[in-house]
Amino acid sequence: MTEIATPTAPGPTTSARAVGAPAADAALEQLEIERRPVGPKDVRIDIKFCGICHSDIHFARGEWGEIPYPAVPGHEIAGVVAEVGAEVTGFKSGDRVGVGCMVNSCRECENCEAGEEQYCLKGNTQTYGSKDRDGTVTLGGYSDHVVVDEDFVLRIPDGLTLEAAAPLLCAGITTYSPLRHWNAGPGKRVAVVGLGGLGHMAVKLAHAMGAEVTVLSQSLRKQEDGLKLGADAYYATSEKATFKELRGRFDLIVNTVSAGIDIGRFLSLLKTDGTIVNVGAPPEPLPVPAFALIMQRRSFAGSAIGSIRETQEMLDFCAEHGIGAEIEVISADKVNEAWERVLASDVRYRFVIDTSTL
Ligand code: NAP
Ligand code: ZN
Ligand code: ZN
Repeated sequence: MTEIATPTAPGPTTSARAVGAPAADAALEQLEIERRPVGPKDVRIDIKFCGICHSDIHFARGEWGEIPYPAVPGHEIAGVVAEVGAEVTGFKSGDRVGVGCMVNSCRECENCEAGEEQYCLKGNTQTYGSKDRDGTVTLGGYSDHVVVDEDFVLRIPDGLTLEAAAPLLCAGITTYSPLRHWNAGPGKRVAVVGLGGLGHMAVKLAHAMGAEVTVLSQSLRKQEDGLKLGADAYYATSEKATFKELRGRFDLIVNTVSAGIDIGRFLSLLKTDGTIVNVGAPPEPLPVPAFALIMQRRSFAGSAIGSIRETQEMLDFCAEHGIGAEIEVISADKVNEAWERVLASDVRYRFVIDTSTL
C-alpha cells in the first residue's frame, strides 16, 4: 500500500481525465481538467464509477439556464481515497467513499446549523457548475479523480459494491429523503411516478420501509421489473381507467418525471391530506389546479437531495437491506449513447460509467 500523503500546505494542482460538454448543443468529449491541490481538510478520491443522472443532461444542455463551458457533469461518485490533507480525521487512504450532489455549503446559516446543508440559505456548492470557494467552477465526476472537503464525503459501507452504490449518492438520497420526511412505512400507500433512475430507487426504498408501493409508468413495458423491484401494483398512465380506478388512493406520490406532467390528474389520486412531492426537475413550470388541492386539503411539495447526515443514513439503510441500484456499467466512450437512451426512457435503471476506461 502507498503511504498516505498529508501535505500541510497546498501543493500543485493535478491534471485529471474527464468527459464533458464543450457547448450546450455539442456531444460530450474527452477533456483534460485541473483539480485543486489537496488542502488540509481535503480528500483526494480516485473515482472508480460515476452514475449518469438525468440532471446531468438538463444541466449540460443548458436547460436550467446558462452555464460555463466546458461542463463536466457527474454527481453520483464512488471511489477510493487516494490522499488526505493534514487535518482530515474521518478518512484514510484506501477507504471506499462516495460524493453526491454537493461539495460545500456556508456552514453558518440556519439550515446549515440545523444539518440541512442541502437547503443552505446561501446556496450549497454543487458538485458541478457551482462557483467553488477558490472562485473556480466545480467540475463533476465523469472523471478519474476529484478533491473534496471531508465533510462532504460519504462512507460506502461494506456489502455494497462501488458500482451499485454510485447511483445512491443522488437517485438514492433524493428519493429516501422525501419518503422519510412524509413517513412512508407500514400502512402507507405510496405511488412512484416514472420508473427511471430515481423511480426505481423510490420503489426499492419505499418497499424496504414497509409501505405499499404502486408504480405509475407511461406504459406497462417495465411491469415485470417494477414488481421484482418491490412494487405491489403497476399501472400505465396512458390508460384512462388508471386514474378512475386509483382515485383518492394514495397517502404520498413521489413524482420523478423529468418532463412536465399534468399534476392535476395525479392530485386526484391522493387521499384527503395526501401529498405529491416533486423531485423531477423539468425546466418548464408545473401548473397546479387550485380545486384539486383545496377540496381534499392536498399538498404539492418539492424536495432536493438530502443532507450529508441523511445520505450516510441512507447508505447504511441500503447496506442493511441489501439495496443497490440496478445498473448498466458502460465505458466512457458510450456516454453520448447512454444520454440518448436516458432521454428515450430506455434505461434499466441507471447507467454507471467505469472511469478506468477514461
Ligand atoms: P430518468 O432515469 O430519465 O427517469 C425519468 C422517468 O420519467 C423515465 O424513466 C420515464 O419513466 C418518465 N418520463 C420521462 N419522460 C416522460 C414524459 N414526457 N412523460 C411522462 N413520463 C416521462 O431520470 P432520473 O435521473 O430519474 O431523474 C428524474 C428527474 O429528477 C430529472 O428531472 C432530474 O433532473 C430530477 N432530479 C431531481 C433531484 C432533486 O434533488 N430533486 C435529484 C436528482 C434528479 P416511465 O418510462 O416509467 O414512464
Ligand atoms: Zn442527480
Ligand atoms: Zn448555509
